Amino acid sequence: MTTQTAPTFTVEQRPDPATDEQVAELLANPAFGAKFTDHMVMVDWSRDGGWDNPRVTAYGPIPLEPAASVFHYGQEIFEGMKAYRHEDGSIWTFRPEVNAARFAQSARRLALPELPEELFVESLRALVDLDQRWVPDQSLGEVSLYLRPFMIATEQALGVRPSNRALYSVIASPAGAYFPGGLKPVNIWLSEDFARAAPGGTGTAKCGGNYGASLSAQAEGIDNGCDQVAFLDAVEKKWVEELGGMNLFFAYKDGTIVTPELSGTILEGVTRSCLIELARERGHEVVERRYSIDEWRADAQSGDLVEVFACGTAAVIVPVGTLKWRGGEVSMTGGDIAGDLRSALLDIQYGRAEDTHGWMHRL
Ligand code: PMP
Repeated sequence: MTTQTAPTFTVEQRPDPATDEQVAELLANPAFGAKFTDHMVMVDWSRDGGWDNPRVTAYGPIPLEPAASVFHYGQEIFEGMKAYRHEDGSIWTFRPEVNAARFAQSARRLALPELPEELFVESLRALVDLDQRWVPDQSLGEVSLYLRPFMIATEQALGVRPSNRALYSVIASPAGAYFPGGLKPVNIWLSEDFARAAPGGTGTAKCGGNYGASLSAQAEGIDNGCDQVAFLDAVEKKWVEELGGMNLFFAYKDGTIVTPELSGTILEGVTRSCLIELARERGHEVVERRYSIDEWRADAQSGDLVEVFACGTAAVIVPVGTLKWRGGEVSMTGGDIAGDLRSALLDIQYGRAEDTHGWMHRL
Protein backbone atom coordinates (compact mmCIF):
# COMPACT_ATOMS: atom_id res chain seq x y z
CA MET A 1 0.00 0.00 0.00
CA THR A 2 2.73 2.42 1.02
CA THR A 3 6.48 2.04 1.18
CA GLN A 4 6.82 3.22 4.77
CA THR A 5 8.85 1.00 7.08
CA ALA A 6 6.92 -0.79 9.81
CA PRO A 7 6.18 1.51 12.73
CA THR A 8 7.50 0.66 16.17
CA PHE A 9 5.03 0.11 18.97
CA THR A 10 6.06 1.09 22.47
CA VAL A 11 5.23 -1.62 24.98
CA GLU A 12 3.98 -1.03 28.48
CA GLN A 13 3.48 -4.40 30.14
CA ARG A 14 0.70 -4.65 32.68
CA PRO A 15 1.95 -5.14 36.25
CA ASP A 16 -0.69 -7.76 37.06
CA PRO A 17 -0.89 -10.20 34.12
CA ALA A 18 -3.01 -13.34 34.38
CA THR A 19 -1.14 -16.29 35.88
CA ASP A 20 -0.16 -19.21 33.65
CA GLU A 21 -2.78 -21.30 35.45
CA GLN A 22 -5.51 -18.74 34.73
CA VAL A 23 -4.53 -18.63 31.07
CA ALA A 24 -4.44 -22.43 30.82
CA GLU A 25 -7.87 -22.71 32.39
CA LEU A 26 -9.32 -20.14 30.02
CA LEU A 27 -7.80 -21.75 26.95
CA ALA A 28 -9.21 -25.11 27.96
CA ASN A 29 -12.75 -23.67 27.93
CA PRO A 30 -12.80 -20.67 25.64
CA ALA A 31 -16.23 -19.28 24.96
CA PHE A 32 -16.40 -16.75 22.13
CA GLY A 33 -15.43 -13.15 22.82
CA ALA A 34 -16.05 -13.22 26.55
CA LYS A 35 -12.54 -12.95 28.01
CA PHE A 36 -9.65 -10.82 26.82
CA THR A 37 -5.89 -11.06 26.94
CA ASP A 38 -3.65 -8.94 29.16
CA HIS A 39 -2.94 -6.21 26.63
CA MET A 40 -4.40 -4.12 23.84
CA VAL A 41 -3.15 -1.90 21.04
CA MET A 42 -3.88 1.82 20.89
CA VAL A 43 -2.95 4.32 18.16
CA ASP A 44 -4.20 7.90 18.11
CA TRP A 45 -5.10 9.88 15.03
CA SER A 46 -5.78 13.55 14.49
CA ARG A 47 -6.48 15.35 11.25
CA ASP A 48 -3.51 17.65 11.81
CA GLY A 49 -1.00 15.14 13.16
CA GLY A 50 -1.93 11.86 11.46
CA TRP A 51 -1.27 8.53 13.21
CA ASP A 52 0.59 8.90 16.47
CA ASN A 53 1.82 7.06 19.54
CA PRO A 54 1.41 3.40 18.54
CA ARG A 55 1.50 1.41 21.78
CA VAL A 56 0.65 -1.86 23.41
CA THR A 57 -0.68 -1.32 26.88
CA ALA A 58 -2.72 -3.06 29.60
CA TYR A 59 -6.19 -4.16 28.48
CA GLY A 60 -8.66 -1.90 30.24
CA PRO A 61 -11.26 0.86 29.99
CA ILE A 62 -10.79 3.57 27.39
CA PRO A 63 -11.46 7.05 28.80
CA LEU A 64 -13.64 9.04 26.42
CA GLU A 65 -15.51 12.31 26.65
CA PRO A 66 -19.30 11.83 26.77
CA ALA A 67 -19.41 14.13 23.73
CA ALA A 68 -17.03 11.88 21.73
CA SER A 69 -18.69 11.63 18.35
CA VAL A 70 -18.73 7.81 18.28
CA PHE A 71 -21.39 7.88 21.00
CA HIS A 72 -23.68 10.08 18.96
CA TYR A 73 -23.14 9.47 15.29
CA GLY A 74 -21.74 5.96 15.22
CA GLN A 75 -18.47 6.53 13.36
CA GLU A 76 -17.06 3.09 14.14
CA ILE A 77 -15.55 0.28 12.08
CA PHE A 78 -14.00 -3.06 12.96
CA GLU A 79 -12.40 -6.22 11.66
CA GLY A 80 -12.28 -9.82 12.81
CA MET A 81 -9.44 -12.29 12.29
CA LYS A 82 -7.62 -15.05 14.11
CA ALA A 83 -4.12 -16.07 15.21
CA TYR A 84 -3.38 -19.79 14.95
CA ARG A 85 -0.61 -21.75 16.63
CA HIS A 86 1.05 -24.32 14.39
CA GLU A 87 2.47 -27.63 15.52
CA ASP A 88 6.00 -26.18 15.86
CA GLY A 89 4.76 -23.41 18.14
CA SER A 90 4.91 -20.63 15.54
CA ILE A 91 1.97 -18.22 15.36
CA TRP A 92 0.26 -17.24 12.12
CA THR A 93 -2.64 -15.22 10.89
CA PHE A 94 -4.68 -15.53 7.73
CA ARG A 95 -4.58 -13.03 4.86
CA PRO A 96 -4.16 -9.94 7.06
CA GLU A 97 -3.63 -7.75 4.00
CA VAL A 98 -7.20 -8.50 2.90
CA ASN A 99 -8.57 -7.44 6.29
CA ALA A 100 -6.34 -4.35 6.15
CA ALA A 101 -7.79 -3.44 2.75
CA ARG A 102 -11.37 -4.02 3.94
CA PHE A 103 -10.67 -1.93 7.06
CA ALA A 104 -9.44 0.90 4.83
CA GLN A 105 -12.52 0.57 2.64
CA SER A 106 -14.79 0.66 5.70
CA ALA A 107 -12.88 3.74 6.92
CA ARG A 108 -13.48 5.54 3.61
CA ARG A 109 -17.21 4.80 3.78
CA LEU A 110 -17.49 6.05 7.37
CA ALA A 111 -15.30 9.13 6.74
CA LEU A 112 -12.69 7.81 9.16
CA PRO A 113 -8.93 7.90 8.45
CA GLU A 114 -7.38 5.00 6.53
CA LEU A 115 -4.89 3.00 8.54
CA PRO A 116 -1.84 2.03 6.45
CA GLU A 117 -1.53 -1.72 5.86
CA GLU A 118 1.88 -1.94 7.61
CA LEU A 119 0.49 -0.29 10.73
CA PHE A 120 -2.48 -2.68 10.71
CA VAL A 121 -0.33 -5.79 10.34
CA GLU A 122 2.33 -4.57 12.77
CA SER A 123 -0.36 -3.84 15.38
CA LEU A 124 -1.45 -7.49 15.25
CA ARG A 125 2.15 -8.68 15.50
CA ALA A 126 2.94 -6.41 18.43
CA LEU A 127 -0.11 -7.55 20.43
CA VAL A 128 0.27 -11.26 19.67
CA ASP A 129 3.98 -11.07 20.45
CA LEU A 130 3.28 -9.77 23.94
CA ASP A 131 0.24 -12.01 24.58
CA GLN A 132 1.53 -15.15 22.88
CA ARG A 133 0.71 -17.25 25.94
CA TRP A 134 -2.93 -16.73 24.96
CA VAL A 135 -2.67 -18.36 21.54
CA PRO A 136 -3.94 -21.87 22.22
CA ASP A 137 -2.21 -25.06 21.26
CA GLN A 138 -3.86 -27.31 18.66
CA SER A 139 -4.02 -30.11 21.21
CA LEU A 140 -6.94 -28.12 22.65
CA GLY A 141 -8.94 -28.61 19.44
CA GLU A 142 -10.28 -26.02 17.05
CA VAL A 143 -9.20 -23.02 19.06
CA SER A 144 -7.43 -19.79 18.20
CA LEU A 145 -6.92 -16.25 19.39
CA TYR A 146 -9.57 -13.99 17.90
CA LEU A 147 -8.24 -10.52 17.02
CA ARG A 148 -10.58 -7.56 16.94
CA PRO A 149 -9.13 -4.39 15.38
CA PHE A 150 -11.51 -1.43 15.58
CA MET A 151 -11.58 2.33 15.15
CA ILE A 152 -13.77 4.95 16.80
CA ALA A 153 -14.27 8.69 16.36
CA THR A 154 -13.14 10.42 19.54
CA GLU A 155 -13.49 14.13 18.89
CA GLN A 156 -15.57 15.97 21.44
CA ALA A 157 -18.05 17.52 19.03
CA LEU A 158 -21.79 17.35 18.58
CA GLY A 159 -21.68 18.87 15.11
CA VAL A 160 -22.63 16.25 12.55
CA ARG A 161 -19.41 16.05 10.52
CA PRO A 162 -16.45 13.71 10.20
CA SER A 163 -14.47 13.58 13.44
CA ASN A 164 -11.06 15.26 13.56
CA ARG A 165 -9.79 12.70 16.05
CA ALA A 166 -9.92 8.92 16.10
CA LEU A 167 -8.57 5.99 18.04
CA TYR A 168 -7.47 2.67 16.56
CA SER A 169 -7.31 -0.28 18.91
CA VAL A 170 -6.90 -4.06 18.82
CA ILE A 171 -8.13 -6.42 21.50
CA ALA A 172 -7.78 -10.20 21.54
CA SER A 173 -9.89 -13.01 22.93
CA PRO A 174 -9.30 -16.78 23.03
CA ALA A 175 -11.88 -18.36 20.76
CA GLY A 176 -13.49 -21.77 20.79
CA ALA A 177 -16.49 -22.72 18.70
CA TYR A 178 -18.64 -19.72 17.77
CA PHE A 179 -21.79 -21.78 18.01
CA PRO A 180 -21.78 -23.86 21.19
CA GLY A 181 -23.38 -26.73 19.24
CA GLY A 182 -20.12 -27.12 17.24
CA LEU A 183 -20.67 -28.35 13.68
CA LYS A 184 -24.32 -29.07 14.30
CA PRO A 185 -26.49 -27.49 11.61
CA VAL A 186 -27.96 -24.12 12.58
CA ASN A 187 -31.49 -22.92 11.96
CA ILE A 188 -31.91 -19.71 10.04
CA TRP A 189 -34.74 -17.22 10.36
CA LEU A 190 -35.74 -15.33 7.23
CA SER A 191 -36.03 -11.64 8.05
CA GLU A 192 -38.96 -10.29 6.04
CA ASP A 193 -39.59 -7.04 7.90
CA PHE A 194 -36.07 -5.85 8.60
CA ALA A 195 -33.41 -5.17 5.98
CA ARG A 196 -29.71 -5.09 6.77
CA ALA A 197 -28.40 -2.80 4.06
CA ALA A 198 -29.75 -0.75 1.19
CA PRO A 199 -28.17 0.40 -2.09
CA GLY A 200 -25.89 3.32 -1.35
CA GLY A 201 -25.84 2.42 2.35
CA THR A 202 -23.10 0.84 4.41
CA GLY A 203 -23.62 -2.87 3.68
CA THR A 204 -20.15 -3.34 2.20
CA ALA A 205 -18.49 -1.67 5.19
CA LYS A 206 -17.82 -3.45 8.46
CA CYS A 207 -19.28 -0.78 10.71
CA GLY A 208 -21.02 -1.18 14.04
CA GLY A 209 -24.24 0.39 12.79
CA ASN A 210 -24.90 -2.52 10.44
CA TYR A 211 -24.84 -4.91 13.37
CA GLY A 212 -26.89 -2.68 15.66
CA ALA A 213 -29.50 -2.52 12.92
CA SER A 214 -29.55 -6.31 12.58
CA LEU A 215 -30.31 -7.06 16.21
CA SER A 216 -34.12 -6.68 16.14
CA ALA A 217 -34.18 -9.25 13.37
CA GLN A 218 -31.79 -11.43 15.39
CA ALA A 219 -34.11 -11.18 18.41
CA GLU A 220 -37.05 -12.18 16.20
CA GLY A 221 -35.02 -15.15 14.97
CA ILE A 222 -34.18 -16.27 18.50
CA ASP A 223 -37.87 -16.01 19.46
CA ASN A 224 -38.56 -18.37 16.58
CA GLY A 225 -35.97 -20.93 17.63
CA CYS A 226 -33.28 -19.85 15.16
CA ASP A 227 -29.58 -19.11 15.66
CA GLN A 228 -29.04 -16.61 12.85
CA VAL A 229 -30.97 -14.44 10.43
CA ALA A 230 -30.90 -14.37 6.63
CA PHE A 231 -31.43 -10.96 5.07
CA LEU A 232 -32.97 -10.20 1.69
CA ASP A 233 -32.21 -7.22 -0.52
CA ALA A 234 -33.97 -4.10 0.73
CA VAL A 235 -35.60 -3.11 -2.58
CA GLU A 236 -37.34 -6.14 -4.07
CA LYS A 237 -37.18 -8.27 -0.91
CA LYS A 238 -36.47 -11.15 -3.19
CA TRP A 239 -32.74 -11.74 -3.39
CA VAL A 240 -30.87 -13.57 -0.67
CA GLU A 241 -27.99 -11.47 0.60
CA GLU A 242 -26.26 -12.91 3.65
CA LEU A 243 -26.63 -13.63 7.34
CA GLY A 244 -26.06 -10.97 10.00
CA GLY A 245 -22.40 -11.99 10.25
CA MET A 246 -21.72 -14.61 7.57
CA ASN A 247 -21.90 -15.18 3.81
CA LEU A 248 -24.02 -17.97 2.30
CA PHE A 249 -23.37 -20.83 -0.14
CA PHE A 250 -25.88 -23.15 -1.84
CA ALA A 251 -24.66 -26.56 -3.03
CA TYR A 252 -26.65 -28.53 -5.64
CA LYS A 253 -26.96 -32.24 -6.34
CA ASP A 254 -24.90 -31.89 -9.53
CA GLY A 255 -21.97 -30.37 -7.60
CA THR A 256 -22.65 -26.77 -8.62
CA ILE A 257 -22.32 -24.20 -5.87
CA VAL A 258 -24.03 -20.82 -5.92
CA THR A 259 -23.16 -17.85 -3.72
CA PRO A 260 -24.88 -14.45 -3.85
CA GLU A 261 -22.89 -12.05 -6.01
CA LEU A 262 -21.31 -8.98 -4.44
CA SER A 263 -24.33 -6.79 -4.88
CA GLY A 264 -22.93 -3.63 -3.33
CA THR A 265 -24.94 -4.32 -0.19
CA ILE A 266 -23.26 -7.44 1.20
CA LEU A 267 -19.96 -7.71 3.02
CA GLU A 268 -17.21 -9.35 0.98
CA GLY A 269 -16.03 -12.04 3.37
CA VAL A 270 -12.44 -13.23 3.41
CA THR A 271 -13.73 -16.76 4.04
CA ARG A 272 -16.16 -16.44 1.13
CA SER A 273 -13.42 -15.66 -1.39
CA CYS A 274 -11.23 -18.51 -0.08
CA LEU A 275 -14.08 -21.01 -0.28
CA ILE A 276 -14.81 -20.02 -3.87
CA GLU A 277 -11.18 -20.81 -4.70
CA LEU A 278 -11.01 -24.02 -2.69
CA ALA A 279 -14.30 -25.33 -4.13
CA ARG A 280 -13.16 -24.59 -7.71
CA GLU A 281 -9.88 -26.41 -7.05
CA ARG A 282 -11.97 -29.38 -5.96
CA GLY A 283 -13.81 -29.42 -9.27
CA HIS A 284 -17.01 -27.63 -8.29
CA GLU A 285 -18.50 -25.06 -10.58
CA VAL A 286 -18.97 -22.00 -8.36
CA VAL A 287 -21.35 -19.36 -9.62
CA GLU A 288 -21.63 -15.88 -8.14
CA ARG A 289 -25.05 -14.58 -9.06
CA ARG A 290 -28.28 -13.24 -7.66
CA TYR A 291 -30.09 -16.00 -5.79
CA SER A 292 -33.77 -15.65 -4.92
CA ILE A 293 -35.53 -16.79 -1.80
CA ASP A 294 -38.10 -18.60 -3.99
CA GLU A 295 -35.28 -20.58 -5.57
CA TRP A 296 -33.96 -21.54 -2.13
CA ARG A 297 -37.38 -22.75 -0.97
CA ALA A 298 -38.30 -24.59 -4.18
CA ASP A 299 -34.94 -26.29 -4.72
CA ALA A 300 -34.68 -27.41 -1.10
CA GLN A 301 -38.21 -28.81 -1.37
CA SER A 302 -37.44 -30.68 -4.60
CA GLY A 303 -34.18 -32.03 -3.17
CA ASP A 304 -31.98 -30.47 -5.89
CA LEU A 305 -30.44 -28.16 -3.32
CA VAL A 306 -28.69 -30.46 -0.90
CA GLU A 307 -26.50 -28.25 1.26
CA VAL A 308 -26.60 -24.68 2.42
CA PHE A 309 -23.75 -23.36 4.51
CA ALA A 310 -22.69 -20.09 6.04
CA CYS A 311 -19.11 -18.92 6.41
CA GLY A 312 -17.11 -16.33 8.27
CA THR A 313 -13.91 -15.98 10.25
CA ALA A 314 -15.47 -16.62 13.64
CA ALA A 315 -17.53 -19.72 12.85
CA VAL A 316 -15.50 -20.86 9.78
CA ILE A 317 -18.27 -22.87 8.06
CA VAL A 318 -21.57 -23.97 9.53
CA PRO A 319 -24.21 -26.04 7.77
CA VAL A 320 -27.73 -24.62 7.67
CA GLY A 321 -30.25 -27.24 8.75
CA THR A 322 -33.57 -25.48 8.39
CA LEU A 323 -34.75 -22.18 6.97
CA LYS A 324 -37.79 -20.85 8.83
CA TRP A 325 -40.10 -17.99 8.04
CA ARG A 326 -43.46 -16.79 9.26
CA GLY A 327 -45.75 -19.67 8.46
CA GLY A 328 -43.31 -22.20 7.06
CA GLU A 329 -39.97 -23.91 6.98
CA VAL A 330 -37.83 -26.06 4.76
CA SER A 331 -34.93 -28.35 5.65
CA MET A 332 -31.82 -29.22 3.72
CA THR A 333 -30.80 -32.87 3.56
CA GLY A 334 -27.10 -32.12 4.02
CA GLY A 335 -23.98 -33.59 2.41
CA ASP A 336 -20.19 -33.61 2.51
CA ILE A 337 -19.26 -30.38 0.79
CA ALA A 338 -19.37 -28.04 3.80
CA GLY A 339 -17.37 -30.48 5.90
CA ASP A 340 -14.76 -31.05 3.16
CA LEU A 341 -14.24 -27.34 2.54
CA ARG A 342 -14.11 -26.69 6.26
CA SER A 343 -11.36 -29.28 6.77
CA ALA A 344 -9.43 -27.96 3.77
CA LEU A 345 -9.50 -24.41 5.12
CA LEU A 346 -8.71 -25.37 8.71
CA ASP A 347 -5.81 -27.58 7.57
CA ILE A 348 -4.26 -24.55 5.87
CA GLN A 349 -4.95 -22.23 8.80
CA TYR A 350 -3.51 -24.64 11.38
CA GLY A 351 -0.49 -25.50 9.20
CA ARG A 352 -1.50 -29.12 8.61
CA ALA A 353 -1.65 -28.66 4.83
CA GLU A 354 0.71 -26.86 2.51
CA ASP A 355 -0.24 -23.22 2.05
CA THR A 356 -0.13 -23.27 -1.75
CA HIS A 357 -2.04 -19.97 -1.98
CA GLY A 358 0.31 -17.96 0.23
CA TRP A 359 -2.57 -17.12 2.56
CA MET A 360 -0.74 -17.53 5.86
CA HIS A 361 1.25 -14.72 7.42
CA ARG A 362 3.65 -15.40 10.26
CA LEU A 363 3.23 -12.99 13.15
N1 PMP B 1 -20.93 -10.90 6.35
C1 PMP B 1 -20.98 -10.15 7.45
C2 PMP B 1 -22.09 -9.18 7.60
C3 PMP B 1 -19.98 -10.27 8.44
O1 PMP B 1 -20.03 -9.54 9.56
C4 PMP B 1 -18.94 -11.20 8.25
C5 PMP B 1 -17.87 -11.36 9.31
N2 PMP B 1 -16.81 -10.48 9.08
C6 PMP B 1 -18.93 -11.96 7.08
C7 PMP B 1 -19.93 -11.78 6.15
C8 PMP B 1 -17.82 -12.94 6.82
O2 PMP B 1 -16.62 -12.26 6.60
P1 PMP B 1 -15.21 -12.92 6.90
O3 PMP B 1 -15.20 -14.22 6.17
O4 PMP B 1 -14.22 -11.96 6.39
O5 PMP B 1 -15.14 -13.12 8.37
